[in-house]
Amino acid sequence: MMRMTVLASGSKGNSTVISSGKTHVLVDAGLSCRELLRRMAIAGEDPAALDAILVTHEHQDHVAGLAVLARKLRIPVFFTEPTHRAWVRMLTPRTTMSYAKWLDHMAQEKESRASAFALETANQLCATREEPGLRSDDPNAVLELPVEPEPCDAEAVETLPAAVKADPTFLPAVEYFRAGTNFSIGDIDITPFTIPHDAADPCGFVFEAEGIRMALATDLGYMPPNVKQAVACSDVLLLESNHDLEMLRDGPYPWSVKQRVLSRVGHLSNSATAEFLSRDYDGGAAYIVLGHLSESNNVPELARIAAEEAIGDRMTLLGNKILLATQSAPLEPICL
Ligand SMILES: [Zn+2]
Ligand SMILES: [Zn+2]
Repeated sequence: MMRMTVLASGSKGNSTVISSGKTHVLVDAGLSCRELLRRMAIAGEDPAALDAILVTHEHQDHVAGLAVLARKLRIPVFFTEPTHRAWVRMLTPRTTMSYAKWLDHMAQEKESRASAFALETANQLCATREEPGLRSDDPNAVLELPVEPEPCDAEAVETLPAAVKADPTFLPAVEYFRAGTNFSIGDIDITPFTIPHDAADPCGFVFEAEGIRMALATDLGYMPPNVKQAVACSDVLLLESNHDLEMLRDGPYPWSVKQRVLSRVGHLSNSATAEFLSRDYDGGAAYIVLGHLSESNNVPELARIAAEEAIGDRMTLLGNKILLATQSAPLEPICL
């Protein structure tokens, strides 16, 4: 069994839970931690069951709640190295970071993590009380653990908070992957693939467990051959259908933003998605989920009609059902 639960999709926040029977991962954390937890509750997803967070790219609508959620759940975050660097740079006051500074930063992070671990171990030895950090939305909540230093390791207790509090990019653990190189988390096999988008090293993902494949590809300026190939043979395909070309052209965005959206590293239009669905798509998915719909330059019915026309008579009760992901509420979990 595999399950996909889209918690949110659009330029104000993206997040999707992918689960097998045993393993649960979150793709992107683009809403506040509080809102992500609220939506998981609505959709029947247990946050405590999450094993990891995967990040497609460092744009705000994909990482807004990332650090707070990862700290609260104490789970690792998977990035490509350039995406992690770009995210750290974004949250660090200086605008550029030399490679030397980056290495320095990584060494500091490692140290903070080691002392956090030492602290946690010391704390576990002290008492088995419920941890206050797991209840609050405060990014520093975890750091409030050592309020009763004795009989814990007093040195670790005193040195950790300042070091970590000063660092908004502190994560419980960071793991790197590379586009094109498979890896697995629990019993889910993951294939990240490069997408054309104006971020440091943006990726889509294919998830596979128990013979079921689920692919996610949003935030891409066009459908290059590697993406077409990566998403082939999917059972569930979450694909961007960002804007209607005419609505974008006549819409409220400034000219420069329109150019960006339309560019080869922007977003897929309804017609680009329809073109892919009619010409290149293999027709084998049970569900096609249209996502990252623009609230200013699209309406769900236009996206749906374009996709339905492209799918044509391949749409049946068992195959090629079209669903629309929304910004404001989670989508009913898709189970296969
Ligand atoms: Zn986005
Ligand atoms: Zn983006």
